[in-house]
Order: sequence, then C-alpha cells, then structure tokens
Amino acid sequence: MAETYGTIDAQFLAALKDLTAEDRVSTSQALCEQHGTDESYHTAQAPDVVVFTLSTKEVSDVVKLCADHKVPVIPYGTGTSLEGHVAALHGGVCIDLSQMSQIMEVRPEDLDVSLQAGVTRKTLNEYLRDTGLFFPIDPGADASLGGMCATRASGTNAVRYGTMRENVLSLTVVTPSGEIVKTSSRAKKSAAGYDLTRLYIGAEGTLGIITEVTLRLYGIPESISSAICPFNSLEDAVNTVISTIQCGIPIARIELLDENQMEAVNKYSKLDYALSPTLFFEFHGSPAGVAEQVEMVKDLAEGYGGTDFQWAERQEDRDRLWTARHNAYYAALAMRPGCKGVSSDACVPISRLAEAIMETKADMEASSLYGTIVGHVGDGNFHALFVFDPDKPDELAEAKRLNARIVERAIRMEGTCTGEHGIGHGKMKYLESEFGEAGLEIMRSLKRALDPDNIMNPGKIVSL
Ligand SMILES: Cc1cc2nc3c(=O)[nH]c(=O)nc-3n(C[C@H](O)[C@H](O)[C@H](O)COP(=O)(O)OP(=O)(O)OC[C@H]3O[C@@H](n4cnc5c(N)ncnc54)[C@H](O)[C@@H]3O)c2cc1C
Repeated sequence: MAETYGTIDAQFLAALKDLTAEDRVSTSQALCEQHGTDESYHTAQAPDVVVFTLSTKEVSDVVKLCADHKVPVIPYGTGTSLEGHVAALHGGVCIDLSQMSQIMEVRPEDLDVSLQAGVTRKTLNEYLRDTGLFFPIDPGADASLGGMCATRASGTNAVRYGTMRENVLSLTVVTPSGEIVKTSSRAKKSAAGYDLTRLYIGAEGTLGIITEVTLRLYGIPESISSAICPFNSLEDAVNTVISTIQCGIPIARIELLDENQMEAVNKYSKLDYALSPTLFFEFHGSPAGVAEQVEMVKDLAEGYGGTDFQWAERQEDRDRLWTARHNAYYAALAMRPGCKGVSSDACVPISRLAEAIMETKADMEASSLYGTIVGHVGDGNFHALFVFDPDKPDELAEAKRLNARIVERAIRMEGTCTGEHGIGHGKMKYLESEFGEAGLEIMRSLKRALDPDNIMNPGKIVSL
C-alpha cells in the first residue's frame, strides 16, 4: 500500500488541462480551501487542485492520470457533509461533479430517472414537477444526488420512503484505476451476484466515483397534510412516535424538536410556536387515507397529552413549517453567534428510542454546554447538537465527550453511531466498537482489493 503520494507539478497540471479544459482546472487558494471544507467543525484541508468534470469519460481520464501518478482523488458534490468527508487529508485532486448536471431520461412508465451525479435533489424535483412524480429523499440541504448516494443519505421522509439504499436502482462508477462500471440493470429486483450498487452507496468516495445514477420515483401524493403538536415532556413526545411506528401507521414524516430547538427555530425563522418539546408531522396518501392516519395519530398523541395540533394544509404553509425544520441546525448555531456545532447522529431500534433520548437529555442538562435535540425519530434517529466556542478548547472537549457518550449508548442499545451522516474521518474511531475487529478487517480488505494504492479519498472510513 503506497502511503507516499505523487506530487502535483506543472507537468501534471498541464496533463489535467489537456484531459479536460484550461478553465475547468483551478489551483486558486480560495477555491481549493472551499473544496476541502464541509459544514462541520472538523478541520478543513484543501486539495492541491480542483477539476470540474463534465462526463463519465472525463472523470475516468482524470482518475487514470491520478492513478498513474499515485495522486489522491477526492470526489465533491456540494460539500454539505458533516464528518470531514471532503477534507483532502493527503492533498491531491478534488473532482467537483457539480457541472455534471444533466437529467438524462425520466421514464414515468417505469417510475425511474437516470441522471448525472451532480444534479441536486431540489433541481430534480423542480424538473419532475409537471410529471406528477417526485424523489422523496430529503436531507434538508440541497445536496447532489451523487453525494447522497456516497453518504447513504436519508432525512425527513425516510420513515415512509426509505433511504438512498432503498431508492437507487443502478450506478455508473469510475473505479480507482479509471475503469467504468455499471453496477446493475434497471430491474426492480435482481439476484445477480454481489450487490455492487449497495457497495458504493455509503462508500463516501473511498472505492470509486459515482458519475451517473438511476433512481426510483414516486407519484406525488393526492393529499398531503402537515401539522405540529407540542407536548408537556420530551418523553411524551417520543412515546407518541414509538406508538405511531409500532402501530404501523404509514406516516411520511415525524420529527422531534426539543424545547431548546423550538426556541432557536422561533428566533431564526421568526415564528411563535410553543416553547415545548414538539413533533412535526406529515401525512401522504388519498384524502381518505390521510384522514384515517390523522385520526389514528391524534388518538395516540392525546394519550400522551398532545392535543394542540396546528395544521398546515396549503403548500406555502407546509413550506414554511418544513423550512423552519430544515433550518434547525443553523437556528441552533445562531443562538451563540460565532460558535460551531458538534452534531451526534445516533440511530437505535425504535423500542430503545425513549431511553436513548432521555439519557442524552439528562447529559445535556448536566452539562454547562448549550445544546438542542432534533431528530428523524420515526427511524430511531436523532441529533443532539452541542454548540461550542471554537476559541475555548474545553468547550470542544466537552462536546466531544457528550457525543462519545451518545455513540457508546447507541451501540450498547444495538444501534449505530451514524444513522445518516456517515463516517468521514470524524467517526472512524467508533467503527470498531460497532463492527468488531473482524468486521472492520472485511472493510479494510475490500478497500485494499479495490483501491490498492489508497488514492480514493484516503483517510476516510477505514485507516489502513
Ligand atoms: C444543515 C444540514 C442538515 C443535514 N441533514 C441531513 C439529513 O437530514 N440527512 C442526511 O442524510 N444528511 C444530512 N446532512 C448531511 C449532507 O447533506 C449529506 O451527507 C449529503 O448527502 C451530502 O451530499 P453532498 O453532495 O453535499 O456531498 P459532499 O459533502 O460533497 O460529499 C460527501 C462525501 O461523498 C463523497 N462524494 C460526493 N460526491 C460523490 C460522487 N459523485 N461519487 C463518489 N463519492 C462522492 C465525497 O468525497 C465525500 O466523502 C445535512 C447537512 C447539513 C449541513
């Protein structure tokens, strides 16, 4: 395994420009720094050069050049990841796929779409609007679909529609040696050999670069209804969620915000919601189906003291409600201007959710650090966000301590350290406790076999 990488000199840069175009290769310091920075607190690390590719063939040519020179390659979508994923820890070439933004074919009769990996989820849904179809996976940020595949993203709709793992039919991938591979057909199911598609979903660019994606689509529901409901206690809110899921109600979104997060959301989005632990709901289906789901959930919530439902029926009201939810991260950061956040991402089996959240809340209350809880609780997934002053190392140490306790607790409850954000280099230290040494060694073996020179996003997921 080569750990000494090739250097990027004038000759290498000239070859890169020959393969792409002069104006799509940049060594500008500002651009490189931006491409080595994500939305998290992790230290950024700039690549030596950024190249904007337009096609699978170009990506393949660039990767072949990098492979020949043993130069690291870091794929880049929109840079919204949260665990230091895009930091160029060993320098190298950042391949920015944002200009690979063609939607190649929508097939309403098969409910699928093929597109280039740089298309963002909002662009796709705008494009689909007149077809009556939509793509449901929604991580809040307007992430690229290639990046969402690479991080196995999910978000608010996953409780009903699943994650990227369930919604990708096929990928085109450029391997670390520059070969172009199609991972699957468009068939809805297949038992043909190893599941290559799922191998690359969640690989965070460490095994290859996703250049094209075929996704499942869904009909826009005939009826959509959203609501919020405050509760007297966090436990009551969480128990409502657990009952909803255990009753098999096909809810589309069910999100929890604790009272600190509600205060932050009110200030940031200029709202006046009650300062109580609150659930945000969305129901999809036929008018009769939605009415039935609503009645069932209202009954369950009432059993836990949740009676004050506020409904958002019109599109603009629903948009306001969900925009406030999606801005929760920035709202919490804005409570302490100039501060940064450590976001946990534990996910536990639904029956352990109340325990996991209540123990986290107790830790949070015992700490002097400001924090909020927000989560995709229908999946057993929640984020505790600890907001720290970057000039105070003791605050960062405290945020990391609290985060480590959440991870340890989730794994003890047969859950995971990350439900959706991924590993990057921020969570590598937790993988062994989740998979054991034998599981980790299988991951290392895969990485060594597929990327023997360790050029693809080195230093992420597993260390060799
Ligand atoms: C406010 C906020 C809220 C968020 N909420 C959620 C949420 O609810 N659910 C959720 O899942 N995530 C969430 N995220 C995290 C983030 O949006 C997702 O991880 C997203 O999928 C990243 O996509 P991206 O295009 O920004 O990828 P990037 O950040 O550019 O890259 C992420 C990783 O994927 C690799 N990569 C990117 N493109 C490719 C490609 N084409 N081929 C191979 N590898 C590639 C990169 O090398 C990197 O390792 C949130 C982030 C923020 C800032």
